[in-house]
Amino acid sequence: MQRLKILILGGTTEASALARALAGDVRFEPTLSLAGRTKAPRMPPIPFRIGGFGGVDGLVQYLKGEHVDLLVDATHPFAAQMSRHAAEAARIADVPLLAVCRPAWRSVAGDRWTPVLDMAAAVVALGAAPRRVFLTIGQKELAPFREAPQHAYVIRSVDAPDAEALPPIAEVITARGPFAEADERRLLAGRKIEVIVTKNSGGSATEAKLAAARGLAIPVVMVERPARPEVETVTCAEDALEWLERTHRRIAPSRRGV
Ligand code: NAP
Repeated sequence: MQRLKILILGGTTEASALARALAGDVRFEPTLSLAGRTKAPRMPPIPFRIGGFGGVDGLVQYLKGEHVDLLVDATHPFAAQMSRHAAEAARIADVPLLAVCRPAWRSVAGDRWTPVLDMAAAVVALGAAPRRVFLTIGQKELAPFREAPQHAYVIRSVDAPDAEALPPIAEVITARGPFAEADERRLLAGRKIEVIVTKNSGGSATEAKLAAARGLAIPVVMVERPARPEVETVTCAEDALEWLERTHRRIAPSRRGV
């Protein structure tokens, strides 16, 4: 049987789920690509590579050099640059591309969300008066909050941010989801959090803080997603697997004997 080589751009729950689903599947030869941001990533059950490709040109070279048949962009909804590069490189290298992007969170009755376009706007939305802020935005976009040193921040990220990236009043909590609502409530109440800043990542692993905020009537500054390239997109690993199976049925027979 002709095996199709798949490059999965990962760093997300969906990419890991797809890697698990493909492990041992004789129809495919998948490789998971990670950016290398997380110090101790969970080891995937399929071959993997770590580190950037060197822009669009580097990714085109990789796709051609490794004879990749299918590209799956399962990066995080906020990994806008990688998604742009994937769309451009797939077009140039003429490799079919599927994006996996989980739905955004939507506010429900009782939520007190302020949507903003980026981190700079999130800082403005916090206002001038000192507040106790829970920041769950990862570790790479903390710099704008140094411009608002009047607030006391509780910062949660997978790895600890560099000390010089932190605002002056900051407590760091390193933790990796999924988080439970009861624990989130305890954390928010225990730290006397007055406002949360988060990105609209979507997904269930980090959603509990929103339910906890609703229960405690804590406002949320919600950073909206960046624009994504217009490519064929599914919302979960199961649908990505279906797409891969369909594509295998369509193109593998024509490759037999190649
Ligand atoms: P980004 O800003 O869109 O990408 C910056 C550069 O990082 C890309 O141009 C590429 O370098 C490299 N890169 C990104 N994802 C890669 C991958 N899967 N494999 C190889 N290289 C990759 O990305 P980001 O927002 O920093 O995210 C980095 C990683 O963390 C991604 O895997 C993403 O899925 C994951 N992640 C991001 C967030 C978030 O909030 N942004 C949250 C959770 C997980 P070259 O140009 O050199 O190829």
